[in-house]
Amino acid sequence: LLRIEDVHKSYGDEEVLRGIDLEIDRGDVEVLVGPSGSGKSTLLRCLNRLTEVDSGHIYLGETEVTAPDTDPNAVRQQIGMVFQDINLFAHLTARKNVTLGLRKVRGLSAAEARQRADSELDRVGLADQADSYPAQLSGGQKQRVGIARALAMDPEVMLFDEPTSALDPELSNEVLEVMQGLVAEGMTMVVVTHEMRFARGGASEITFLADGEIVERGPPETLFENPEHERTKQFFESIR
Ligand code: ATP
Ligand code: MG
Repeated sequence: LLRIEDVHKSYGDEEVLRGIDLEIDRGDVEVLVGPSGSGKSTLLRCLNRLTEVDSGHIYLGETEVTAPDTDPNAVRQQIGMVFQDINLFAHLTARKNVTLGLRKVRGLSAAEARQRADSELDRVGLADQADSYPAQLSGGQKQRVGIARALAMDPEVMLFDEPTSALDPELSNEVLEVMQGLVAEGMTMVVVTHEMRFARGGASEITFLADGEIVERGPPETLFENPEHERTKQFFESIR
């Protein structure tokens, strides 16, 4: 479903992605791990054109995401993204945060958008918070509104960049449960996370990135228990 071919990206003199190749099938959950600065966020951002690659190609199905004539906004509907600190509109309720894109981008009527938003809020366990403003929500609830907002666009792929790293453990759990629910529904996901329980339980494959290169990729059991490379082993020991 998602094919990444020889992607390179530099910032000034620093080559942040040094030839990334990755194929992600429909329904797969790809977990990206690696030291700080290894290029995980940059790679995710390239996938939905928040960052432009210097060279290489990214395909979503038959569509080349990286083609100059591909509309980044169309890509972002197909590939939803949830960041560490989600940006909800503070002056809008949870429901309005979700309906905004449905109205503007999808052109739904107010009634249709409302219905869709409420069903997505229900999906993330927030049916009773639809009228709350972001300031009235916990960090975990805000993240779940962000997830509902992305899901409302009916994406083919969901990207998560450390969605729980700013949250206390209890709040992390409620977000992780929602993500586990998506895994169970068969959503194709690319997830940057330090939550090794999620990686163990949810990942189809784990990719270990260091210095802008894929050091090793494999099923969770292999990377946790029996990694091929010393560097992978050291990384997993360091985060235990
Ligand atoms: P972390 O685990 O800390 O989130 P990461 O693996 O997500 O790290 P990236 O955010 O992709 O790493 O950053 C990789 C490198 O690219 C870092 O050295 C970072 O400073 C640099 N970098 C990222 N974005 C930019 C930017 N917009 N301009 C300049 N340098 C950048
Ligand atoms: Mg990052």
